[in-house]
Formats: sequence, C-alpha cells, structure tokens
Amino acid sequence: MAQKDYRSSLKPIWCPGCGDYGVLSALYRAFDELSLEPEKIAVVSGIGCSGRLPGYVNAYGFHTVHGRAIPIATGVKIANPELTVIAVGGDGDGYSIGAGHLPHVARRNVDITYIVMNNGTYALTKGQHSPTSMPDFRAKPTQLMPLEESLNPIAQAIAYDISFVARGYSFAKEIRLADLFIQAIQHKGFALIDVFSPCPTFNAFQAKEYKECVSPIPKEHDVTDKLQAFGLAHNAEHIPIGVFYKIQKTTLQDKIEELKITEEKTSLDELFEKF
Ligand code: SF4
Repeated sequence: MAQKDYRSSLKPIWCPGCGDYGVLSALYRAFDELSLEPEKIAVVSGIGCSGRLPGYVNAYGFHTVHGRAIPIATGVKIANPELTVIAVGGDGDGYSIGAGHLPHVARRNVDITYIVMNNGTYALTKGQHSPTSMPDFRAKPTQLMPLEESLNPIAQAIAYDISFVARGYSFAKEIRLADLFIQAIQHKGFALIDVFSPCPTFNAFQAKEYKECVSPIPKEHDVTDKLQAFGLAHNAEHIPIGVFYKIQKTTLQDKIEELKITEEKTSLDELFEKF
C-alpha cells in the first residue's frame, strides 16, 4: 500500500490554507505506515467542514448527523471489532452538540480513535463562536466577542479519564500529526486527539495564535501522571502539543468478550436480548 491508495476519487473542497488538509494527509500517512487495509478501516464523521473527511478516504465511511459520530463509531466497533474505527469532527460537533457522549465513551473505553479538528468556530455556518473560541475572537457574522468562557478540551478529557489524550497541530513540524494518529490507533482503548486545525476563512485570529504559541510537551513529562497532565493542560504560557495522558484500562470489547464467556453465549444478539 502507499498513501495514494487511501485517497478516494473525491477532491477535497476545503478552502485554501484550511488545517483539515493537514489532518487528512496525516491520516493517509498513518494508515500507510501502519499498513492498514482499506477494507479494515471505517471513518465516521459528524457535521461541519470536517464532516466531509470520510468522503476523501478510500475506506468504509459514514457521514452521520450533528454530534453523533461517537455513538455511531461505537456501534460500528461493537458490531465489527476487527475494524480500525476513526471518528472525526469539529469542535462545535464534538464539544457542544455531541459533548454529552464524551464522558460515556470514556467510561466505556471503546477502542476507537476520535480526531477533533478544532478551529474555534462553527465554520460551515459562516463563523459563529464555538465552545473553543478564544475570548477575544470577533465572530464574522456579528463582529462580537464571545460572552462565554472557552472550554479546555484537554483538561476535560483528562477529567473524564479518557485513556489516551493528545493535542496536535495541522502544520506542526516538531511533532508529526501522523505519529500522534499512529499512537492513538495502536492504543487499546478510547483515544482523543484534539488537533488545532486552523480556519483561515472565518477564524484567522485563532490560526495566528496557534502558529505562535504551540510547542512540544517536554520529553520528561510522565504521561501516566494525571495531575501532571492536568498541569500541562492548564499551561498559560504556551500551548503544549503531544501526548498528555495515556493509561491502560479494560475496554468495552474486553467486557463484552468476558460476558460472552461467563454467560456461555456465543452471539452478540443473544447477549443484547438478555439486556
Ligand atoms: Fe476550512 Fe474554514 Fe474553509 Fe471550513 S470555512 S473549509 S474550516 S478554512
């Protein structure tokens, strides 16, 4: 396989300079370096500019409804544990409309990788504030700054005890986005990667901040230390990128397999009937 084998026949229609291009090419690279067969991959998205991504990948794809990539990706993984399941979406999709799914997918520890293309705005609907808009970002439609505080998705993910938490940047040179994706896919359990994916069309302000403020997480950081990870997530001086937190815990699939054995059931359908 080569990177080109993961490209579909559709040509991306994102704006020039959009960070989502960086995410897509890093994903092709990660699939190639992991030698994954396209028929063993499923990419599930919510709604937004980033929601188009499954259409650009030569693999199984599902462009679902707003905020629902996680429950659908969960269903795909339970139905076919052999698949590498990637859920993708934007910050509005994942941290607002679909935010209620995050603590529960963390509790279940479903073995899927969730990539959030975070640009601090609802870009598809022309640039309204999103949960991760910076306090001094003036939204294009209203020219107003947000009335709400911005969400810290990394601190939230660590608080939920998501078993792999990382942050990347579409244009980072120091830490390859593809390497973060590879680590997340290889991790057994739920992995969240928040990717600063600039929207130069509707949030050029935040795009500039990302470029100037990101820097790699220090090598001595202990990824299993939850308090240290919290400290990094609240770093006020710069925006760390890399792996914040990584622990091993039982996955939902492990528990399903255990149930099948203890209940002497052979099929998932029979198990579901019992519930
Ligand atoms: Fe990318 Fe923003 Fe254009 Fe959407 S509007 S494609 S997020 S640059």
